[in-house]
Amino acid sequence: MTTSTMPDTEPVILPRDRHCISRKQIDERCLKVLYRLHRSGYKAYLVGGSVRDMLLGRSPKDFDVATDATPEQIKTLFRNCFIVGRRFRLAHIRFSGNYVVEVATFRRNPSPDELPEDPLERRGFVENVFGSPQEDAHRRDLSINGLFYDIGTFSVIDYVGGLKDLENQRLRVIGDPLVRFTEDPVRMLRALEFSARLGFSLAEEVREAIYMRAPLIAEAAPARIREELLELFRHRVAAPVFSQAQATGLLTYLIPGYEKDPLTASLLQATDSLTTQGAAVEEYRVLAVLYFSDFLKSCEACEGDGELHIADTLKIANRILGQHCQYFHIASGIRHQARELFIGFTRLRRGQGRKGEKRFLRHPLTPLILDFYRLWSEAAGEGEELLQIWESALAKAKSAPASSGRTASEEKPEEQSEGQTEGKSPRRRRPRRRGPRKPAPSPEG
Ligand code: ATP
Ligand code: MG
Repeated sequence: MTTSTMPDTEPVILPRDRHCISRKQIDERCLKVLYRLHRSGYKAYLVGGSVRDMLLGRSPKDFDVATDATPEQIKTLFRNCFIVGRRFRLAHIRFSGNYVVEVATFRRNPSPDELPEDPLERRGFVENVFGSPQEDAHRRDLSINGLFYDIGTFSVIDYVGGLKDLENQRLRVIGDPLVRFTEDPVRMLRALEFSARLGFSLAEEVREAIYMRAPLIAEAAPARIREELLELFRHRVAAPVFSQAQATGLLTYLIPGYEKDPLTASLLQATDSLTTQGAAVEEYRVLAVLYFSDFLKSCEACEGDGELHIADTLKIANRILGQHCQYFHIASGIRHQARELFIGFTRLRRGQGRKGEKRFLRHPLTPLILDFYRLWSEAAGEGEELLQIWESALAKAKSAPASSGRTASEEKPEEQSEGQTEGKSPRRRRPRRRGPRKPAPSPEG
């Protein structure tokens, strides 16, 4: 939104006795920064998610500060201040224990006639045009994310109708959603994310605007989408956001060509529950969850009468995961681990008694494979009996001495065969080893 389209209205101001934010909830290092800015004659506001969360009675994840001091002026106030960001210049006030208070100067969107002629210079210019608190509030994404807490008066300042939306539990975009989503399509995903995180209803005009602007998200930087996708998992809202993204037509542009089927929906739900129980979000598991159904279907389609050879399942896994990883520039190590979950799952599902089982059970990745099998079993509502069998086999193997192992994908064909006789790929004989076995990593036996 440009300054010219910004409504020039008085803010709603809630004085200290009319809101629930207490300074006790604010990190003391952040308070120190706020006070010093204020005593030095600058405006010092808490902004964004922390104000929203405190008003909702939640503990904020972090505290961001905004001020009318420029980055250089902030630097003169704090010895421990570093100006960061080549494009969007911010002040980082660093404390011991790697704690950083991020201080941004109020910004505004410049009007078109202010922009440099060279398109390459525009982005950096646009992101560093300083403005008033009101302008800064209006360039934010959602009304509930545009609230300020002023350390000078202990009041909450609302230029964008965020207080009303918090009260009505409604998710609204600041300004015209069609315009704001065109400016930055990632806001569409953030709207769905916050609606799910807070359990707020999505304003109808926001839903419609997502529907209309969905294709634009394909133009957003893949690195940003990748990070926002991980945020969904961290906040345990992957299942509802993927559902909403599918319903509004966003999903297929968010991850090019992606479609969610019922098994994926259940896997996403099971993953959100797992994170709620305290499991860390691992990107390789996220990948596996997103593409597992696709993998199973492709394997089934290729199977024919006999069991697929592991080498063939590996090819399928590589094809499916490769496209996504290439698009989002995901490191091969992460892709490799996701692939191990697929191949390991195939092995678990075939049951016990295959070749190389001892080595497979002792491999460090096997417990993770079993965790993934458990996740699938919960999501699909099947495979419990086999899960118990493998759980006790793994428990037994834990007490045995360590053994060698390569990863499933590094296995030679005859090692991958798991004793099967009808594998589709040709089997080669491995020459007999003469010396003692060396320890090596492999879950595949
Ligand atoms: P949380 O940190 O709990 O996920 P948050 O609201 O602090 O929530 P951040 O991603 O940390 O979210 O962003 C901080 C603030 O920056 C937001 O509250 C919002 O005001 C603003 N913001 C973030 N992304 C955008 C965007 N794409 N467009 C406009 N404003 C944005
Ligand atoms: Mg934040």
